[in-house]
Amino acid sequence: MSKYEQPKCDCGTSLIFVAEEGREVCYYIKKDGTKGRQIDVRSSALCGADWLECPKCKNCYDTDMRLMPPNVDKFLRGEIR
Ligand SMILES: [Zn+2]
Repeated sequence: MSKYEQPKCDCGTSLIFVAEEGREVCYYIKKDGTKGRQIDVRSSALCGADWLECPKCKNCYDTDMRLMPPNVDKFLRGEIR
């Protein structure tokens, strides 16, 4: 099985996870691919979905999750939005 790598933007910056929780709550993604600590809370346009965002160039990507050993969901980068 290939080694896990944190999702990165095309510019090389590590992506952050933005969760739609009534407001937009931003989280780091840890090296092991799981959700890290909260970075920021922003007002929301209520789009009702989660996504990955580049803190540098603001590119947004779909969130993809994969169950990997030891049975934890890890973040992967989906399609660019
Ligand atoms: Zn970027």
